[in-house]
Amino acid sequence: MSEKKPFEVARETLKQLTLQKLPPTPANYLALYNEIAGVPLIVPFPADILRDISKSLPVKTPGQQKQRGLLDYAIDRLNWEGVKTALVAYGSFAPLTGGDDAPAAAASMTGLNASAPALTTEFLGQMGRLIEYTQPALGTDDERFGELSKTLTSALRQSGGDILALKSMLLSYSDRVSFVAEDQAEIKKALLKLLHMVFENIADLSLDEQWLKGQMDALMEASSPPLTLRRLDDVERRLKDVIFKQKDAKEHAMQAQNEMRDMLAAFIDRLSDMAKSTGSFHEKLEENARQIEQAKTLAEIAPVLKEVISATRNMASQSKTSGEELQVMRDHAFQTDAELVKLHQELDRVSTQARHDPLTGALNRRGLEEAVEREISSVRRKDTPLCMSLLDIDNFKKLNDTMGHATGDIALAHLAKVARECMRPQDTLARYGGEEFVILLPDTPLDKGIEAMTRLQRELTKKFFLAGTEKILITFSAGVAQLAPDETGGDAIKRADKAMYLAKRAGKNRVLGA
Ligand code: GH3
Ligand code: MG
Ligand code: MG
Repeated sequence: MSEKKPFEVARETLKQLTLQKLPPTPANYLALYNEIAGVPLIVPFPADILRDISKSLPVKTPGQQKQRGLLDYAIDRLNWEGVKTALVAYGSFAPLTGGDDAPAAAASMTGLNASAPALTTEFLGQMGRLIEYTQPALGTDDERFGELSKTLTSALRQSGGDILALKSMLLSYSDRVSFVAEDQAEIKKALLKLLHMVFENIADLSLDEQWLKGQMDALMEASSPPLTLRRLDDVERRLKDVIFKQKDAKEHAMQAQNEMRDMLAAFIDRLSDMAKSTGSFHEKLEENARQIEQAKTLAEIAPVLKEVISATRNMASQSKTSGEELQVMRDHAFQTDAELVKLHQELDRVSTQARHDPLTGALNRRGLEEAVEREISSVRRKDTPLCMSLLDIDNFKKLNDTMGHATGDIALAHLAKVARECMRPQDTLARYGGEEFVILLPDTPLDKGIEAMTRLQRELTKKFFLAGTEKILITFSAGVAQLAPDETGGDAIKRADKAMYLAKRAGKNRVLGA
């Protein structure tokens, strides 16, 4: 290549600019000049211009922000390759078409449609809020569900979380939600039924203040949290029992009151009769006294005296009759009064003092509370072990569904009977809820408590429950807890309940120690 002088190169450059119809910009001039002079083209790095462009790029997602940072870094290092990579990546983080922290690769891994918008942090955050806001409506009874919701909400809020894990969490959450929501609906239905029952009966049964108090206590107890179907079921049963007995007692009381009223009326009639006859007796006597004063001869007095004697006799016999009648009436009144007192005592007993479940004859919840208190103070005094066992009949709902509720009732009574037969006299059987029983075993360590429950299981296989001619095997799952030092009875029962739940989970028809 011949060496050209700079002015020749300059002239040639101007010529080519015209020939190639290129705009006469410094850049075009420089490019042509270098080409003609045979010098390699070195374009200066337009850092300022690029920085300007970078500044004007909108940042709508964390991904875009990160890529703009990388772009600035590449500009500072005059790195074209870095600029290119950052710009390409910036484009893929646009808010509507790409996830910022959940790139397309993650979406395709989870089986989501890669062409659909990816899950943005904002969207996941909104889901978290939704779950949090719906939580109060689903209640707090199910602890495990509460835990699951918390874990899921915090996972949804963590940007860059594991999409696969989120997906499986969401699946199990939606499963549980359906159960919990169903439970809540059932609870509401049961609660409303209960309220209606109370209101319908309050007007009829307000004869006795004490009873009303008992009724209200039961309602308060049922409506205080935690509201579980088991507790509502329990209270409904107790109220039904009280209402039934109350109605019966009320009829008797009304009858006794009517009798009393009739008697009082007769008593008053008799008194006024007496007053009348006494009045006429006095008039008679005055009249006779006047006749005696005016009499001049004994012969005149004699008939008057006769009259006096006969009136006095009459009066005396009338008084005697009235006195006897009054005595009978008084005795009767005392009797009726005693009956009324007894009836009122009975009313008190059934309303606030009821301790037994009428269906099974076992203690009810109130009776159990007292028995637990009694047993605990006794074993603490004697320093001996006390076991509390909670058993729940297996698949009882199915038995109800196939054989009818009435047969279910008989099955409950059958289980209670078999349990009583194989328990020691010092053991206590209580109906804890619908088909759940608690057995208190004083002076019994854990291993012996488990043995006792296993013995009851065996007994039930021998003493079938007969529904008509059909033999039905009742099985149960149970948890046994030995009361720990300083533990409350309620806490020990809770432990037994947990063990019972584990026994159900492990396949039912078994006894586990807590
Ligand atoms: P699991 O083995 O898990 O315990 O199942 P289950 O069917 O026994 O348990 P679940 O708690 O679902 O159902 C208990 C049923 O017991 C529901 C309720 O209708 C019934 N029940 C509760 N109290 C009574 C009662 O006094 N008489 C009758 N016949 N049924 C009752
Ligand atoms: Mg149950
Ligand atoms: Mg059951």
